Amino acid sequence: LERLEVSQLTKTYQGESGPLSILAGIDLSMAPGEAVVITGPSGAGKSTLLYILGLLEPATSGHVRLGTTDPFSLSPPAQAKYRSERVGFIFQDHHLLPQCTVLENVLIPTLATARDAASATKRAEELLERVGLRERMHHAPARLSGGERQRAAVCRALINNPKLLLADEPTGNLDRRTAAVVGTLLLSLAAEQKAMLLCVTHSSELAEKFSRKYELVDGLLKGY
Ligand code: ADP
Ligand code: ADP
Repeated sequence: LERLEVSQLTKTYQGESGPLSILAGIDLSMAPGEAVVITGPSGAGKSTLLYILGLLEPATSGHVRLGTTDPFSLSPPAQAKYRSERVGFIFQDHHLLPQCTVLENVLIPTLATARDAASATKRAEELLERVGLRERMHHAPARLSGGERQRAAVCRALINNPKLLLADEPTGNLDRRTAAVVGTLLLSLAAEQKAMLLCVTHSSELAEKFSRKYELVDGLLKGY
C-alpha cells in the first residue's frame, strides 16, 4: 500500500519587490485511507500546495513520494499518466463539461487509460449510485443542483481508483446544508476507496469533519 511522503517542499514566486516565499518547507506524511485537512486564510498557499502535489505547478525545492514513485522525476508523458491514474482532483467549481451527460463526465478520466469501456461504465454507474445520482446519470450538468454537480465531480475524481485525492475548497460554492452533505460523502467515499484525501478549505465546518487538521501559517503546517 502506498503512502504519501512530502518533505521540505518549498515554493517561491518572483514578486515585484523580490522573491515571495509561499511554502517554506512543508513536511507531511499520509497513510493509505487517511484524510487530512489544511485550513488557513486566503493567499496562504493552500491551492499552491495542492497544485504542486498534483503536478499542475512545479515546486521550487523539496521531495514528494507516492509509494515508490518520485513524481517530480518523471518524464512529461509519465507525469500525465501519473496525474490521470494516480491522482484525483476536486475543485471549488465542478468543472463538468456542459455538453456531456453526468455519466460521460465521470468517464472522461478513463479515456486516457487502457481500461475497457464496459468495466469503466460499470464502475461509473456504481459510484453514481453510491452518491445518489443513478437517476441523474443521463442528464446534463446544467439540470443538476450545485450539490449534485459536486457529487458527480467526486465520482469523476475517483473513477480511476486514484491513491491520492486532492480537494481544493470542495464545498466552497455550496450552501451550508449541501456543503455538509458533500463533505461527509467525500470523506466516506475516500475511505471506502482507500484513497488518501488531502483537502484544503477555509471552512471550519468542513475542517471539523477531519481528525487530522493543519493550518498553513507562514508557509508551514501547524497541527491543531
Ligand atoms: P490559497 O489557496 O491559500 O488562497 P494560493 O495558493 O492560491 O493561496 O496563493 C498563495 C499566494 O501565492 C497568493 O499570495 C497568490 O497571490 C500567490 N500566487 C499564486 N500563484 C502565483 C503565481 N503564478 N505567481 C505569483 N504569485 C502567485
Ligand atoms: P483560489 O482562490 O480558488 O485558490 P486563485 O484565484 O487564488 O484561486 O488562483 C487562481 C489561479 O491563478 C491559480 O492558478 C493561481 O496559481 C493563479 N494565481 C493566483 N494568484 C496569482 C498571482 N498573484 N499572479 C499570478 N497567478 C496567480
